[in-house]
Amino acid sequence: MATIGFIGLGNMGGPMAANLVKAGHTVKGFDLAEDALATARANGIEIVATAKDIAAEAELVVTMLPAGKHVLSVYTGPDGLLSAAAPGTVFIDSSTIDVASARAVHQAASDADMLMLDAPVSGGVGGASAGTLTFMAGGPSEAFDRARPILEIMGQKIVHCGDAGAGQAAKICNNMILGISMIAACEGFALAEKLGLDKQALFDVASTSSGQCWSINTYCPVPGPVPASPANRDYEPGFATALMLKDLKLAQDAAQDVGAATPMGAQAAQLYSLFDAAGHGGTDFSGIIRFLRGDLVD
Ligand code: NAD
Repeated sequence: MATIGFIGLGNMGGPMAANLVKAGHTVKGFDLAEDALATARANGIEIVATAKDIAAEAELVVTMLPAGKHVLSVYTGPDGLLSAAAPGTVFIDSSTIDVASARAVHQAASDADMLMLDAPVSGGVGGASAGTLTFMAGGPSEAFDRARPILEIMGQKIVHCGDAGAGQAAKICNNMILGISMIAACEGFALAEKLGLDKQALFDVASTSSGQCWSINTYCPVPGPVPASPANRDYEPGFATALMLKDLKLAQDAAQDVGAATPMGAQAAQLYSLFDAAGHGGTDFSGIIRFLRGDLVD
């Protein structure tokens, strides 16, 4: 059994670290928030005083932080992980961050003779608790091979997407497709309502025809056709609008950096930005159907 470091014990990191403890590993954790530390302690994680202390003791370290600036500072800051770890330590950053920051951290890790993977996840808090996340990994094969047994404890599907940054690239491309397809699904159902077309009839056709997609077949944005979708519980997330907006913005930043044309992605980012600004950041992202219908306008 290994000694594993875990930094960022929030909504996702907390249950992921708890699953590593359940699998028999010694997990040393660090977070800035007292409530996250208290829950982690209760789940058997040994709390240490600084991120640097973790690097000195662990053979593998997972980070699950809000954004690129947090990841850069935790890895490359003056008291950062890379300053204290033994050469050959494996680092897995599972945060969703911009591709440029992910590549910068990879470079710093490689300069320090460490092994690094960017390995963002999909599956949300439910997947983190159940150990059924999908990991999209980018980085050298040696890092992937060493990380894999640990990722398999926290996840169900582990995909090696390519070199440094490929995991983050896969995540934002997938979620840009999802954001666009959800708006398409919502527009379809909203138009059907105005046309007097029954939602179940549209579902029965679209879910088995060329309109089929995850946003309709698995996560239908109107109540009824897919009983487990958030539409059936007043759009309680699920996947919150604020997180979808974060990923759409990352996709737009990346598209601008590399000169990719993503006009529908840009539209989706704008629509989710309006929905978020109107106070619905905590609503499931499929709830944007109510906004598109005009239901939420006073
Ligand atoms: P969260 O805010 O609940 O947790 C982040 C934790 O990081 C917090 O506890 C915070 O105190 C800690 N932190 C911040 N800076 C730190 C530092 N310098 N040192 C130590 N700890 C620090 O966020 P979350 O929902 O767990 O999301 C984490 C990452 O996972 C994000 O990048 C998010 O985009 C991604 N993600 C989240 C979901 C989801 O459904 N919540 C799904 C997929 C991916």
